[in-house]
Amino acid sequence: MERVLLIKYGELSTKKGNRNFFIKTLYDNLLDKLKDYNVRIKKDRAHMYIEFNDNELDDIKRVVDKTFGIHMYHIAYVLKNDVEELKKELLEVVKSKKFSTFKVVTKRSNKNFPIHSQDFNHVIGGLILKNIDNISVDVHNPELEIKIEIRENNTYLYLDSYQGSGGYPVGTQPRGMLMLSGGIDSPVAGYLAMKRGIVLDCVYFEAMPHTSIEARNKVISLARKLSSYCKVINLHIVNFTPIQEAIYKNCREDYCITIMRRMMYRIMDKLCNSHKAFAIVNGESIGQVASQTLTSMRVINSVTNMPVIRPCACLDKLEIMDIARKIDTYETSILPFEDCCTVFVPKHPVINPRLDTAIEEENKFDYEKMIEEVEINTIKVFEKEDSFSDLL
Ligand code: ATP
Ligand code: MG
Repeated sequence: MERVLLIKYGELSTKKGNRNFFIKTLYDNLLDKLKDYNVRIKKDRAHMYIEFNDNELDDIKRVVDKTFGIHMYHIAYVLKNDVEELKKELLEVVKSKKFSTFKVVTKRSNKNFPIHSQDFNHVIGGLILKNIDNISVDVHNPELEIKIEIRENNTYLYLDSYQGSGGYPVGTQPRGMLMLSGGIDSPVAGYLAMKRGIVLDCVYFEAMPHTSIEARNKVISLARKLSSYCKVINLHIVNFTPIQEAIYKNCREDYCITIMRRMMYRIMDKLCNSHKAFAIVNGESIGQVASQTLTSMRVINSVTNMPVIRPCACLDKLEIMDIARKIDTYETSILPFEDCCTVFVPKHPVINPRLDTAIEEENKFDYEKMIEEVEINTIKVFEKEDSFSDLL
């Protein structure tokens, strides 16, 4: 019996004018991720159908699970719109399942089909009760829900339903630039931003030789994990060493972190402009550290007019960690390689910095020139282990 993976769209079904664009984006995303498999994808206004080979189903499900814009999906049997044949095939499928209570739910969008939905529920219910022993109907809490959708050309029968990952398809929003450190929060922020449809580029500030090649590789692996939710990720690696050293040489120690972050934001602003990105995204969480108090955020944020999206802003660390585990970035994030922020931590960073003091301190060196000349290398990171373009 032929089966398809039947996809029901997520929130995009509420986007009236943009509907076709949303569906087309989801379709393109699935097509790209499934290009190595033997599939055919069809779409209409309410559903998408993936025809697959049985031996590839598990892999295909893994891809679908990571594709945003899907509310639910089902493994559905494709049956003919013929009452007698439907009864026969349906019984065969249901017989292969173990259950003691069940319920039949029919939807009939094909009004030419001779039996009304409610009546068809009874026909099928009766048929099952007659042919399978020791079972009963339970309309409130059935072990097996038998869903039948009678459409124009075919009837779809499904017993297995799966929750999709929700959100909007990646690409329904323009590009955003994620500040990706090796920590726990920023990959989670990237995941949540992509879930809203944002195309993500990542930016990593490194300070070699104070930070190690292992720290960079860790960020590349995190970017790779994130790339399983989209087609590819451009990872921009910023050589932050000269600026960071200048800050620590010239500025007041307690303001070093504030100023370092103002420099990062300035470089982010520059990267957004040169790569047509519409927002900075980062893993800041209100109150987590000195640089993430509201006072600090205001002083740091004032160097850019770009919107700064902070998906973790209002989450507790434990909530962020739960998402990190779910998206499988946690174990990589906790590897102990030092990042440029942890190498240069002052003993007592200012918690409530003043904007005038920050400006006064950073004006002690020619940061504008340094930002203009900052060295940035970009690599493309794909989900598949061996396929990223090497640095340099
Ligand atoms: P995370 O917050 O991801 O666990 P972290 O705790 O090392 O990492 P914080 O000091 O909390 O980072 O910094 C807040 C945010 O600033 C990070 O979530 C990240 O978005 C950004 N950030 C910090 N350091 C870097 C870096 N070296 N490169 C890129 N972005 C960074
Ligand atoms: Mg953090």
